Amino acid sequence: MDDNYRAAVDAAAIFSETDLRGNITYVNQQFCTISGYSREELLGANHRILNSGLHEPAFFVGMWRALAAGRVWKGEICNRAKDGTLYWVDSTMVPLVDPLSGQVRKYVSIRFDVTEKRQLLHTLQWRVGHDVLTGLPNRTYLSDLLNQALACSRREGIELAVCMLDLDGFKAVNDGYGHAMGDLLLVEVAQRLKHILRESDVVARLSGDEFVLILRDVDEGRQLHAALRRVLRALAAPYVIREQHLSLSASIGVTLYPQDDEDADTLVRHADQAMYVAKQRGRNRYHLFDVTQEQELKATHQTVARVRRALHNDELCLYYQPKVNLRSGQVLGFEGLLRWQRPGRGLVPPGDFLPWVEQTDLIIEIGEWVLDKALNQLQAWQREGRPWSLSVNIAARHLQRSDFAERLRQLLAAHPEVDPARLDLEIVESVAIDNLQHVSRCLDACRALGVRFSLDDFGTGYSSLSYLKRLPTQTIKIDQSFVRDILHDQDDLALTRAVIGLARAFGREVIAEGLESVEHGRVLMGLGCELAQGYCIARPMPASEVQRWAQTYRQPKLWRDP
Ligand code: C2E
Ligand code: MG
Ligand code: MG
Repeated sequence: MDDNYRAAVDAAAIFSETDLRGNITYVNQQFCTISGYSREELLGANHRILNSGLHEPAFFVGMWRALAAGRVWKGEICNRAKDGTLYWVDSTMVPLVDPLSGQVRKYVSIRFDVTEKRQLLHTLQWRVGHDVLTGLPNRTYLSDLLNQALACSRREGIELAVCMLDLDGFKAVNDGYGHAMGDLLLVEVAQRLKHILRESDVVARLSGDEFVLILRDVDEGRQLHAALRRVLRALAAPYVIREQHLSLSASIGVTLYPQDDEDADTLVRHADQAMYVAKQRGRNRYHLFDVTQEQELKATHQTVARVRRALHNDELCLYYQPKVNLRSGQVLGFEGLLRWQRPGRGLVPPGDFLPWVEQTDLIIEIGEWVLDKALNQLQAWQREGRPWSLSVNIAARHLQRSDFAERLRQLLAAHPEVDPARLDLEIVESVAIDNLQHVSRCLDACRALGVRFSLDDFGTGYSSLSYLKRLPTQTIKIDQSFVRDILHDQDDLALTRAVIGLARAFGREVIAEGLESVEHGRVLMGLGCELAQGYCIARPMPASEVQRWAQTYRQPKLWRDP
């Protein structure tokens, strides 16, 4: 090379030449400086002397293949200096070809030191994935780690626990001693956690005083509980920071894969929910997420969503069950009972879907739909010359709405032909217990509109005489569970007799429900109850069958003259 060029290259780069076997034949001063070797040590030595051990063998195989084929090779290489330190060089290796023979003669390499750039990059990458204060993986990196751990557990069929850990009383330290102390405390907590967990486990800091632990290969039994107890004990041990004695504890929520077979985000959310339970139960403890409860909740959501669709798709309807006077055979009216005509599934009774819906405001929408339907039906019967009454069941949540009476007034106003006294609202006694004052005020307001009330399923709730007194319902319905057994069970017979006596004492009408045989009717009449409803009179029927049934109904002879 021309001396002028060489001077320029020496000034700019780390430069060397090697023979075909990789033995060094020339180095410049920069080469000596960065590698820490003298020129004498380098000349004649093989280039492998600088090998850092960081690159896979395949890396060099690729490089030599290119060079031997006469191609220029470029890449970043990590070398090891004489004192053992590592440095990175951006390298361009050029095979010099003899113009006469066309053979590669030697290799020259021009390198630039990129160690600082590499370190900076590494620090930046590290910072993206770690919490600078504690050095633990942060939320971003946690998500990768959890996904990896989960994939591994799935593949190998091993259990995995995801724990959300929140420190108890950390805010007090921050407020009382300042944030600097708080930070030192967090560093100590992080160290204790790392120390107590296995190499294969993960500790990450989510934010503030929240940490996530991923424990691998724990079975639900002893191992997991032992590990969690160890963590609690380690964190609850006294802290001495800047000569201050501090104490702290942690609340941990845990969820276990595969029992909780969800994605990473959901597992963290479940662990978080469980952590709140641990806090509520008094802190310094762990709580396992309840998968069954969650599944039930999910099923509830699904049921409610389906019923909402059913309501909007007009799949709900009312069936009507007659109420009669046993002795005279007179049809007094009907009870409207909800049914769901579920496509492909047939007629679904209310017990199969209402209990879930009753926990939500959908029951109010359904209740208003039922009231509207009932008023339409009353209007139709009135036009057909049938002065029957109609009872509908009102759910607790619906009745407790502050605008219940007002909404009822509007519905009645929309059906001006209907005599409000024909509408009977059935409520169960447990409704009233929650909010007796409000309910009795609401009942008064509705009675002022002219509608009537029945106390349904009487005797099954917590009824007491004082409730009976304060709930001004005109009718009491004896629950079918008592009526059913009056033929065999002396206690139920006594109860039924007592309820009838009570109704009479309070000046209420009494009706028995769940009448399943003629004999039941005879006994009831003997006890002084003449009104009843039950399968032996008629099962609930669609509106279209009501007229024909009423025309043909005759009471059994036994009831006419008992
Ligand atoms: P409930 O108001 O006590 O209604 C009486 C239930 O007993 C009805 O069940 C009826 O079909 C059934 N039943 C009638 N006679 C007999 C009998 O002789 N033997 C037996 N074993 N059962 C008889 P259903 O229709 O399945 O309704 C169950 C419950 O669902 C009702 O109890 C009521 O609490 C609720 N429900 C029904 N419709 C509605 C509604 O529109 N809104 C609300 N909120 N609840 C409703
Ligand atoms: Mg009822
Ligand atoms: Mg009932």
